[in-house]
Amino acid sequence: MSYKCFACGKTVYQTEVLKILGREYHKRCFRCKTCNRVLTMKSYKALDGNPYCQAHYPNVSEHGAQMNYGQQEKKEEQQEEQQEYQEEQQEEYQEEQQQEEEYY
Ligand SMILES: [Zn+2]
Ligand SMILES: [Zn+2]
Repeated sequence: MSYKCFACGKTVYQTEVLKILGREYHKRCFRCKTCNRVLTMKSYKALDGNPYCQAHYPNVSEHGAQMNYGQQEKKEEQQEEQQEYQEEQQEEYQEEQQQEEEYY
């Protein structure tokens, strides 16, 4: 069983099909109509049968836009935390190595 991708017109096999809005897409072909970013079932918003990302969904209220902005900030915070954690781990590793050298 196979389908035709609505975006690129090529065959989509059942293992890679994304059925959304009554159409079939390759997972990698399901993109925001404005910025071409690949979307997922969870992250897309639909208008007139076209998928958009959160940022480019037309007619978003001011409130909705502010909410998106907050999510973006949170993401960056998490990335910073992860970087700090990785640096700490590296320092610990280096200390361990130095100790070993002294021991021998
Ligand atoms: Zn496709
Ligand atoms: Zn977009």
